[in-house]
Amino acid sequence: MKITKVQTKEQLEKYLSDTHPAWWEAFRVGRKNMYRCNNCSHFIVTIEVDRGVTPMMLSCDSCTIGTRRSGFYLDGYQKLTPTHEWYRPDGDELLELLEDPQANDHYIRGGLSIRPVEDVS
Ligand SMILES: [Zn+2]
Repeated sequence: MKITKVQTKEQLEKYLSDTHPAWWEAFRVGRKNMYRCNNCSHFIVTIEVDRGVTPMMLSCDSCTIGTRRSGFYLDGYQKLTPTHEWYRPDGDELLELLEDPQANDHYIRGGLSIRPVEDVS
């Protein structure tokens, strides 16, 4: 399913909330999670700055061979300082991603992108 009429973050969020309102309502901005590597134990703390879908697993960029698994939003994580944030791309970044069929599929299903917190100005 490739959606071409969606061109902005706002349109994408409207599409997601219109097509699956209850699902969309269940997402909470500000939730924190931890992803820990099964190989080197290196972890990142994430925060959701937009509503959306986050993956269960991420590849580890510390040891490069392990997999970081989701810690399922444990209460204990909520007081940690996030190192990374989940966000919904907008503008040119989103347009470029929607051109790619695989990425289009990810974002049209509510998927978010991840970036280090210090990249945010
Ligand atoms: Zn690792």
